[in-house]
Amino acid sequence: MAGILYLVATPIGNLEDITLRAIKILENVDVIAAEDTRHTLKLLNHLEITKPLISYHRHNEEVKSEQIIQKLKSGENVALVSDAGTPVISDPGEEIVKIAIQENIKIIPIPGACALINALIASGLDTKEFAFYGFLSTNKKLKKQKLEEIKKERKTSIIYEAPHKLLETLKNIEEIFENRKIVIARELTKIHEEFINGTATEILEKYTSPKGEHIILIEGNKNEENINNIFNSMTIEEHYKYYEKDGLSKNEIIKKIAKDREVTKNEIYKCFIKDKK
Ligand code: SAM
Repeated sequence: MAGILYLVATPIGNLEDITLRAIKILENVDVIAAEDTRHTLKLLNHLEITKPLISYHRHNEEVKSEQIIQKLKSGENVALVSDAGTPVISDPGEEIVKIAIQENIKIIPIPGACALINALIASGLDTKEFAFYGFLSTNKKLKKQKLEEIKKERKTSIIYEAPHKLLETLKNIEEIFENRKIVIARELTKIHEEFINGTATEILEKYTSPKGEHIILIEGNKNEENINNIFNSMTIEEHYKYYEKDGLSKNEIIKKIAKDREVTKNEIYKCFIKDKK
């Protein structure tokens, strides 16, 4: 019988943030696939667990996925961990999960720390709906385009950022978002954990040399009038795509478009069918 692939969340700083279930799984699997084996070894030493480790990172994901799948097929249980937090979230793992599903291998996620969720719940921003963007592109033009897109977003937006790029990204946000409220969640679960609130300008004034790990949270677009202008300047097709990425059904999308444009659903159906022809 094939083994099980466990996706095990590990701490994002404070080593006490590992669950009892995660420890049990790490103790009982045959092998642990780790983003950086030296990093994971520190955690395993802390937990007094001795286990074979295989490296599994961005640059060997394809080859290593194949090797790990062979192990799983031969009945071994494998735990996949990243350097910090939940694997597969802005971390390697997507590839192996997709292959494992194709190969009918059972996958069990083991919940635990995830930086974006902890940043969001303590940010004071709306939590009912949110959009996670991971790391933005390193290409300046694409990064600005994405920020322009985020500017229209009504949900709270969450971005991961490296410390050496934080000031540049805050300057981009200052330019594009003007006075929008943002929150920086810094060094979560660690000694210097901190939440910094304000506009990008205010934060840039007082926060000049960022150190450690950061998450940027941006308040959703609350300007109804602005949103309606944006919707009305879109074609029906663009408006449809705007909601389609949220995974809504066709009927739900048409209902939302009709509401945004203050017209009947039938009118949207007609335009939509005409546009699609
Ligand atoms: N898989 C991880 C998770 O579950 O959140 C994310 C890994 S991603 C490579 C690393 C980024 O996550 C950092 O650049 C930072 O934006 C964010 N991050 C991770 N740990 C953090 C912490 N302790 N405090 C603030 N941000 C953190």
